[in-house]
Amino acid sequence: MRHIDTLEGHQRLSTQALLQTLEKAIEEGETDFYIHASGQHDIGGPLWNRQGKTLHLFLSNPGQRVGAMALPGTEIVVQGSVAADAGWLNAGGELTILGDCGDTAGHCAAQGQIYIAGHAGARSGSLMKKDPSYPAPELWVLKSVGSFAFEFMSGGCAVVCGYGCQGTVLGQRPCVGMVEGVVYVRGEVPDETGELHKEPLSSEDEHFLRDGLKRFLGKIGQIALLPELNNWQQWQKILPAVKTPKTGLSLREYRTTHWISQGLFADVLPDTFDSVGLAESGQFRLRIPVWENQGTCRDCHRCELNCPRKAIVRSEASDGSPVYTAHDHLCIGCGLCASFCPEQVWQIRENQELFAFSSRDREALSSQD
Ligand code: SF4
Ligand code: SF4
Repeated sequence: MRHIDTLEGHQRLSTQALLQTLEKAIEEGETDFYIHASGQHDIGGPLWNRQGKTLHLFLSNPGQRVGAMALPGTEIVVQGSVAADAGWLNAGGELTILGDCGDTAGHCAAQGQIYIAGHAGARSGSLMKKDPSYPAPELWVLKSVGSFAFEFMSGGCAVVCGYGCQGTVLGQRPCVGMVEGVVYVRGEVPDETGELHKEPLSSEDEHFLRDGLKRFLGKIGQIALLPELNNWQQWQKILPAVKTPKTGLSLREYRTTHWISQGLFADVLPDTFDSVGLAESGQFRLRIPVWENQGTCRDCHRCELNCPRKAIVRSEASDGSPVYTAHDHLCIGCGLCASFCPEQVWQIRENQELFAFSSRDREALSSQD
């Protein structure tokens, strides 16, 4: 066990120095750490042992993002409460918080388990997700979560036990925009927006919770609560009610009818909902292919055949020689035609009009300053 005290007199080890110390010790083969932190952030991930041994970190007083991007084979236990973003983007680690969590606990978690022995703040579990090739992430909370919890959740499982809580245990507008995953809740659940789909537990749910609660309560040292929490009549399951692909809502409809309406946030500027595609054709292309034949074109059709947009057409000049043309409205300027051409007939040029437009725009903006 390596002990690291991050305070020496009035000197505090910086986050960078602490993380470097940790990485060096792991590289030298150390697997167990006790770290008395003093607000350093991002402690706990991503770390791994080259021989695949499990890393154990016992922490006190960490700063923001403890366990962020933690990997499988990392087990972190925090004595006491933590700041925001605990287990942010968890990628497979096990994080146990023996106290409360600030906002966004488990935000964007993709794998692993997060166990919280107290309350978790606003937006906890938001954007949790699941990759079908890996085990789903889990977030376990003994007490309650703040508003907007599980917002835009797209996979994984969250359990909110509501232990010792009066009134709602999920705050306001929980699960807004949730499209996948499941949330188990014991206690009162608000539903002022009709965005929740609540169901009683199935026998599979009960089985999952029975095993999981035992594990969770054991991790946080509260196994004595098991009989009280094992009353399935007090639990309910929340599934996403708004499934955009199923209901056929467009992004515009979703934003105006479900998201912005009544939400905390609004657009800074009015949004026309016009969008510029990832690969633009026509006047918004970054690059334009130009067919500059100096009599070297072999008429091999490679450019025509390999164009992903079928933008190139072949015609013939009056003397019967081939002419290849890229149609602006289809071409996205990807440059494949030039890559496939054995004679460098296609030249890829910057879209000067686009750049001219941008600089005019910039000039206009700066003249307003
Ligand atoms: S730049 Fe790409 S899209 Fe445009 S003509 Fe060439 S291959 Fe087709
Ligand atoms: S790939 Fe080049 S050589 Fe072949 S047809 Fe196209 S322009 Fe001509």
